[in-house]
Amino acid sequence: MPSPIAHGVTGYVLSNSLPLKKLNFYLFYGVFVAIAPDFDFIPQWITGEKFHRGVTHSLVFALAFSLIAAGLIHYSRKDSYKLIFFCTFIIYSSHLFLDMFSMGSPGIKLLFPFSNDYIRASFLIFPPIDYTLGLFHPSYLVFLGVELGYSILLLILLRIVK
Ligand SMILES: [Zn+2]
Repeated sequence: MPSPIAHGVTGYVLSNSLPLKKLNFYLFYGVFVAIAPDFDFIPQWITGEKFHRGVTHSLVFALAFSLIAAGLIHYSRKDSYKLIFFCTFIIYSSHLFLDMFSMGSPGIKLLFPFSNDYIRASFLIFPPIDYTLGLFHPSYLVFLGVELGYSILLLILLRIVK
């Protein structure tokens, strides 16, 4: 599955590409929003129940997250609600999109609560990672290579476009 590396770089690139103000706040914000769906690990660790790639990986949750985040930022910074909502939804959805290309998982609950089915792409890009092997394991090199290759490619594309 994509790690915070691929998700964070995607959020950074989208923050630079979307019409967000070019402030450090929004660069950090983009990285945070791109990683945010995986914070569902926290209730999973606390309760032991399966939360990962469930509700937080749905379009309805992306919509709700974007509405609330845009409201909070608009209230505190007076920036355009519509612009922040639009950019937040795109960046949050990028996480869902990437997770659908993960090997070693059934996919994500993209259409929750309308469907409990896990959805994933017909071809998969990101290799699985087995966290039970510890912090360092040689098999992680394949995963890291794909993630770094993806990230470097995105950053090169951003550089060419800008
Ligand atoms: Zn995820």
